[in-house]
Amino acid sequence: MAVQSNGNSELFTCKIPDIKFTKLFINGKFVDSISGKILATKDPRTGEVIARVAEGNKEDVDLAVKVAREAFNHGPWPRLSGCARGKIMMKLADLVDKHAEELAALDTIDSGKLFYFGKSIEIPQAANTLRYYAGAADKIHGQTLKMSSQHQAYTLWEPIGVVGHIIPWNFPCTMFFTKVAPALAAGCTMVVKPAEQTPLSALYCAHLAKLAGVPDGVLNVITGFGPTAGAAISSHMDIDKVSFTGSTEVGRLIMQAAATSNLKQLTLELGGKSPLIIFDDADVDKAADLALFGICFNKGEVCVAGSRVLVQEGIYEEFKKKLAEKAKKWVVGDPFNPAVHQGPQVDENQFNKILSYIKHGKREGATLLAGGKPCGRKGYYIEPTIFTDVTDDMLIAREEIFGPVMSLMKFKTTEEAIARGNATKYGLAAGIVTKDLNVANTVSRSIRAGVIWLNCYFVLGDDCPYGGYKMSGFGRELGTEALHAYLQLKSVVTPIYNSPWF
Ligand code: NAD
Repeated sequence: MAVQSNGNSELFTCKIPDIKFTKLFINGKFVDSISGKILATKDPRTGEVIARVAEGNKEDVDLAVKVAREAFNHGPWPRLSGCARGKIMMKLADLVDKHAEELAALDTIDSGKLFYFGKSIEIPQAANTLRYYAGAADKIHGQTLKMSSQHQAYTLWEPIGVVGHIIPWNFPCTMFFTKVAPALAAGCTMVVKPAEQTPLSALYCAHLAKLAGVPDGVLNVITGFGPTAGAAISSHMDIDKVSFTGSTEVGRLIMQAAATSNLKQLTLELGGKSPLIIFDDADVDKAADLALFGICFNKGEVCVAGSRVLVQEGIYEEFKKKLAEKAKKWVVGDPFNPAVHQGPQVDENQFNKILSYIKHGKREGATLLAGGKPCGRKGYYIEPTIFTDVTDDMLIAREEIFGPVMSLMKFKTTEEAIARGNATKYGLAAGIVTKDLNVANTVSRSIRAGVIWLNCYFVLGDDCPYGGYKMSGFGRELGTEALHAYLQLKSVVTPIYNSPWF
């Protein structure tokens, strides 16, 4: 059985900051929602309410879009030099670093993420994302083109306009800056809707943006629910682009809303059911560590989680034994405790959804190698769970569980690994573990996914684009590709000689 350290014992409360910001952030001010409604955000360690924040609705989104439009059409932000925008973004990055502890603590009490990981890695990384795009803000250049007629053209990359960012709860602060940073660098103005489960760090970041000098109206935050505030963004006639991360189901709704409103542009980063393929020549011990981390990091609430682990038959039994031993040593408990590897699932819904998948797996005939149960007297803790005897057609092998639940499977040949790796409607990521260059090349080119990790997993960086194939969505985040997702291309054509008009 997986080790459960202290999901049920004393809570680590010393790091919890005061919650200073609970209202909508519109035009540089914190304001109540027009309806006066509020929503409760809960601590997944206990299920208790930690704060009540304003619940934004369509009217609040309308107001935020109006000020964002004004800031785009007449305000300074799109008209500043890239260098000046970059300077403000650098200042914001420094403020994020300075407040890393508070931001990490807010994400921990809101979502159950590991505090120490947030403070030392995720939040500093979010600050670096700002720096990456701050550096790119003055490098937005078009081309000069000699046309085949007696004309020349030049191209201009212009900011796309008012952007809506709809973000999920699994990486609240990281996602906020993954979307906001390139949009700011491009000169866009925006309305951000954090997930209803995790509104706190987004409001705090809005406050830091104001301190850094981001002009009023450029960055607005509407906390609220998906079907109301989120849907008001995706169907808004005056929003030029929506960038969404979340479920494939909601991604489809957003695409429908875009199609039936103003044909706004979209970036959709959706679900995944990523394979981690481990070949016979792998170091079994290291591969087992990678596989466990690949599914349990951030309690499996990761769109690129390696939820299908395919192991070649020659090492399968040894791998299985090691994996079971390692799962026993994996510590589930209070995410403020530095000795803990895995905190609680984000909320009761997600907790129940994961447990129902586990039940389904057992009913379908898969065998539990490890875990399978909730743990702790309160809160939403689940043991690291590993199923064997899983067939590709089982629900647990097909659907995104978004929890610490792995399907471990055996394969014989490279061809079989490729076919089964691709046997999913998703295509977000895949991992390959092998020392054989030919196998690595063949498999990485054959798997239909947006990111392939060779002999590593979960390695994301600002300079490396990231996004989905198939039903995992389209468009790319991070890298210069993400900056271009917030720009549009204009061609300006002129005669070379002072002669004909055509
Ligand atoms: P979701 O897709 O419902 O929520 C993501 C965001 O979309 C939230 O901000 C939410 O308020 C908003 N949203 C919801 N309905 C909307 C609508 N009709 N119009 C516009 N915006 C809307 O995700 P969830 O319900 O929180 O989780 C369900 C499943 O989604 C999870 O179990 C997991 O499989 C998947 N998920 C994936 C990711 C990812 O990173 N790819 C992140 C979160 C959840």
